[in-house]
Amino acid sequence: MLRMNGIGRMVVAALVGGALSAGEARAAIKVVTTTEDLAALAREIGGDRVEVEAIARGFQDPHFVEAKPSFILKLYSADLLVVVGRELEVAWLPPLITQSRNGKIQPGGPGYLDASLTASILDIPTGQITRAMGDVHPLGNPHYWLDPDNGLAMAKALQRKLTELSAADAGYFAARYTDFASRVAAAKARWQAALAPYRGLKVVTYHRSWPNFADEFGLDVVGYVEPKPGIPPSPAHTLALIEEMKRQNVKLILMEPYFDQQTPDAIARRTGARVVVMLPSVGGTKDVKTYIDLFDHDISLLTSAIVETASK
Ligand SMILES: [Zn+2]
Repeated sequence: MLRMNGIGRMVVAALVGGALSAGEARAAIKVVTTTEDLAALAREIGGDRVEVEAIARGFQDPHFVEAKPSFILKLYSADLLVVVGRELEVAWLPPLITQSRNGKIQPGGPGYLDASLTASILDIPTGQITRAMGDVHPLGNPHYWLDPDNGLAMAKALQRKLTELSAADAGYFAARYTDFASRVAAAKARWQAALAPYRGLKVVTYHRSWPNFADEFGLDVVGYVEPKPGIPPSPAHTLALIEEMKRQNVKLILMEPYFDQQTPDAIARRTGARVVVMLPSVGGTKDVKTYIDLFDHDISLLTSAIVETASK
C-alpha cells in the first residue's frame, strides 16, 4: 500500500508539474466574432490559445442577420467580442450584447474589439450622415476587410488585444502574426500579378462591398445595381445604369451571393455583360476557410470571367 501511494503521489506531481510548465493549465480565450472573416483572422493569431465562434455565416448579408437566442448564450460566456464596426452590425448586434449581460464584452469593455479602428476606411461621408435616406454605410464603408493590408491591420489589432487578455502568450501571438504577415505578403504578390494585366478594368457591383478590393487590385467601379447601399434596385436607376454601362462598355457585374440575381441578369442581357457572384466573406462556400482562401477564390473567379468576356 505504501508503495502504491508513493507511485500515486509521483504521478500527481508529474501531471501538475507538466501542466504548469507547458502552460496548458490556462483555459483557451473564448472569442466570439460577428463575421467569419474576423473568426478566420482570430484563428490565425490565436492558434490553440483561443476558441473562436462566428455569429453571421459567410453566405449571409452581414448588414441583416437574424438574431437567434443561441447567439446570446455564445456572448454570455465570451472573453472577447470582435466586431467589424462602422455600423455594419447595427441592425442586429446591440440588443444581443445587452441581453448577454456580459460586462467584459460591452462596447468600451476590456473584451470588446472594434476591428475597424486601425483599418483604412473608404467612403467616409463628408456632409450630412444620410442614414435617414436608407444608406447603410453612414460611417464609411464597412466592407474594408476586402483589402489584404486591412487584413493585416486587423490581425495586428487582434494580436494586441489577445496579448492584453493573456500576457503570458505574448510571444506566441507575436510569432503567429509574423508568420501570417509573411504568408499574406507572398499571396498578395501573387494576387497583384494575376490582376496586373487588367488594371483600370471597368466593372459594376451590386452592393458597395468592393471599394477596398477595387483600390487594391486596380478595378474601376463605375456604378452599382443598388441606388444606395441597402436600397433595392429601382427601374429608373436600372435604366440609367444600363445606359452608363453601354456608354463605357462595361462587361462585368460583380454581385454578392445573398442578393436576388434577377436585376443583374436583366442588366447583363441588355448590355452583353456577365454576372460574377463573388464571395465577400470567408465561409461563403465550404472550401473558403481562411482569409487567404477568400482572395484566392475571388481573384481566380474574376480573372477567368475577364478572360471569358474578352474572348467573346
Ligand atoms: Zn454594405
